Amino acid sequence: MIIRKNFKYLLKPNKTSEALFHQFAGARRWIYNWGLQQRKETFEKEEKKVSLFDQNNALVFLKKKTTWLSSIHSQVLQQALSDLDKAYVSFFLGLKKGPKVGYPRFKCKGVRDSFRYPQGVKVEEDRVFLPKIGWVKWIKSREIEGVIKQTTILKEGEKWYISFSCEIENFSSPKIDLNPKKSVGIDLGLTHFATMAIGDKNHLVTIENPKFLKKSLEKLRFLSRNLSRKMKKGKNRYKARKKLSQFHFHLRNLRLDFCNKLVLQIVKNHDIIGIEKMNILHMVQGLKTLARAINDAGWGLFLSCLKNKAIEYGKTLHEVSSFLGNTKLCSNCGQKNEMELGQRTYKCSCGHNLDRDLNAAINIKNQAVGASV
Ligand SMILES: [Zn+2]
Repeated sequence: MIIRKNFKYLLKPNKTSEALFHQFAGARRWIYNWGLQQRKETFEKEEKKVSLFDQNNALVFLKKKTTWLSSIHSQVLQQALSDLDKAYVSFFLGLKKGPKVGYPRFKCKGVRDSFRYPQGVKVEEDRVFLPKIGWVKWIKSREIEGVIKQTTILKEGEKWYISFSCEIENFSSPKIDLNPKKSVGIDLGLTHFATMAIGDKNHLVTIENPKFLKKSLEKLRFLSRNLSRKMKKGKNRYKARKKLSQFHFHLRNLRLDFCNKLVLQIVKNHDIIGIEKMNILHMVQGLKTLARAINDAGWGLFLSCLKNKAIEYGKTLHEVSSFLGNTKLCSNCGQKNEMELGQRTYKCSCGHNLDRDLNAAINIKNQAVGASV
C-alpha cells in the first residue's frame, strides 16, 4: 500500500531568504488571483470553462509581458494554477457528491502566505535547497519517511515552515485478528462532540465538545465583525485580517491536539470502528453559518485523523451509510420509528428506551461489525 504523509519543520531563513519568501508567496497569490479572475470572467461573459491547460499556456505569454514574474521559479507559478484547478475540481465534486466545498476565493496578503515546489528541492541535515532562493537553514526535528512528492513553504504566525508531502511505498499495516468485542460505533453530533457505543455490552461513552470551541466562536464573531468594519485596502484592515488568520491558526492547533488525543485512544483500544459518512453530517439543520463551519471543520479533521491512525495501527474503519437511518432504526428489534429533531430519548414499541445518540451509535457499530466479520 502507498500512503501519503506530511512532515513539517521550522525554517530559519536569513533576511535575504525571507524577503524572497515574501516575494514568492506574493507571486503565487497574484497568479492564483489572476487565474481565478480569468475563469470567473470567461464564465460570466461566454459561459465557458477555462482549463488548466489553457491557463498554463496563457501563463507563458503573461510572463513575457510581466517582467517581475521572471525572477520567480516557473514551477511555483504553475503550481499556483494547479492549486486553483484543484480548488475548482473539489468545489464541483462537492456539489455533486458532498461534502460541500466553498467556491474558490481570492487570496489575501497575510493570510496563509505560501508557495509550493513540485520538485527540485534538496535536503541536507541542517539546510534545504529551494530553487531560485538557495540554501535555507531548517530545524530537522524528526526523520522524513518515504519520497518527497511536493514541498510547501508556508507562513504561520510570524514563522516560516517547510512541509514535505511524502509517499511511503510498501506501507503495510500491522496484521491484527479483529475482535468483534473490541468494536465501537461513533455518532458525531451537536449536543456532544461524540457519543460512542462500545463492545457487545454497548457501553456508553460521551465526549463533550471541547471548551475552547464556545469561547472561540465568540472571538471569531468579534474578529470577523471587526474586519468587516475596516476600510477596504486600509492598513487597519490588513491588521484585522492578520489577527483573524492568526486566530484561525491557533484554533486549528487546539483542534488538532484535541483530535489527536481522542483518536489515539479510540484506535488503540478498538479493532473495529464505525462512523457515519461525512456528507450526512452536513445535513444538520438549524445552524447558523459560522457555528456550522466550526462544526464541519472539527468533524472533518477528526475523520481524517481517524482514517490515518486506523491504517497505521492496522485497525478497520467503516464509514457507515445512513441509508438505513441510524437515528430512526431501533437498535434492539430493527423497527423504524419517526424521531422529532429535538427528541432526546429513543422509544420503541419493543420496550427499548434509551438515549437518541446512543441508539444511533449502536446502529453504526452493528453495521461496522456486520461488514467486518
Ligand atoms: Zn424496538
